Amino acid sequence: MREAQLASDTAPSDGASLPLPWLKEPLRDALATQRTHALLLHGPQGVGQFEMALTLAQAWLCESKALAAEDPQRPCGVCPSCRLVQARSHPDLMLLIPELLGSALGWNADAAGEEGGASGTGEAAGKRKPSKEIRVAEVRRVLAFAHTTAAREHGKVVVVFPAEAMNTIAANALLKILEEPTGQLRFVLAGSSADTLLPTIRSRCQSLWLGVPDAEVASAWLRAQGVLRPEVLLAGAGGQPQEALAWSRDGIDAQVWLALPEQLARGDAASLLNWPLARVVDMMFKLCHDAMRIAVGAVPRYFPPDSMRGRAGVTADVATLGTWYRELSRVARHAEHPWQVALTIESLVLQAKTALAAKSSSTTPSRSIN
Ligand SMILES: [Zn+2]
Repeated sequence: MREAQLASDTAPSDGASLPLPWLKEPLRDALATQRTHALLLHGPQGVGQFEMALTLAQAWLCESKALAAEDPQRPCGVCPSCRLVQARSHPDLMLLIPELLGSALGWNADAAGEEGGASGTGEAAGKRKPSKEIRVAEVRRVLAFAHTTAAREHGKVVVVFPAEAMNTIAANALLKILEEPTGQLRFVLAGSSADTLLPTIRSRCQSLWLGVPDAEVASAWLRAQGVLRPEVLLAGAGGQPQEALAWSRDGIDAQVWLALPEQLARGDAASLLNWPLARVVDMMFKLCHDAMRIAVGAVPRYFPPDSMRGRAGVTADVATLGTWYRELSRVARHAEHPWQVALTIESLVLQAKTALAAKSSSTTPSRSIN
């Protein structure tokens, strides 16, 4: 949902229409260095790959006569084509995204033109569970799209997001289309695990890395979205602003985040029971990581040092933390399966309590962590 809101915030300002301020330079670089018909945009989650892919598509389709093709001011944000992309109804733009994500982002058959819409059109989609994968049937729609004439003047664009959601059959079907480019069709494949894509797909694409944005720019953006003490959530989210915003919208503010180490050291699971399991596991990995850093005399990364004082990990034993880490890895492998989530969280909290409270035999307990 959050990406949909961000994407719809797109508005012409200084000539460019950028949904996220830190995309300006990567977009300029991408437009200046593009040399193939397919781009692979990759990097950590939560830094705006989807918005970047859409903005690139919009830039390619932009019809502003005042701008050269590689002008960094593209997309103009005001021409008819830009407006169609913003309204999610450009006939020459096709999105290939999993049904589940498509409905979360507001890109579905109702919101876009039939060809330009996301996957999951038709009655059949309403009768079964929305898919988390991009399937071969959807890639076949790209094939049909490739063979139509562009409705407007600037060719056609297919955005695939997240690219790693293609199953093997779908990826092979897409590869065939990538291998026989028609002059009119361009691709942006965006995602966070490029290494899981078929090597043959990677080799057909020009690779573009979208990294974690500058912390100050990201914090300012979060503040503008109403997030208080954004630097706390931003650090907690590993510098990924969209992730931090999602937490904030789910009620995880700086205060909640800062209280977690102490809460877990007490074995208090109450506030975590309505979290998705994957988020609990991710948070505990970070806490475990920080407790390990403290145990070896380093500065924690995700939780500020102050929040780790008291009972939380200051004197934890590295071997016990290692056991906790391995248990987290085991649960993470099965975090997608919805078995007994509450029980799993409670058992993880118990483990966190044990690990964080275990005193190292080799160090003197101390309340200060310089
Ligand atoms: Zn335009």
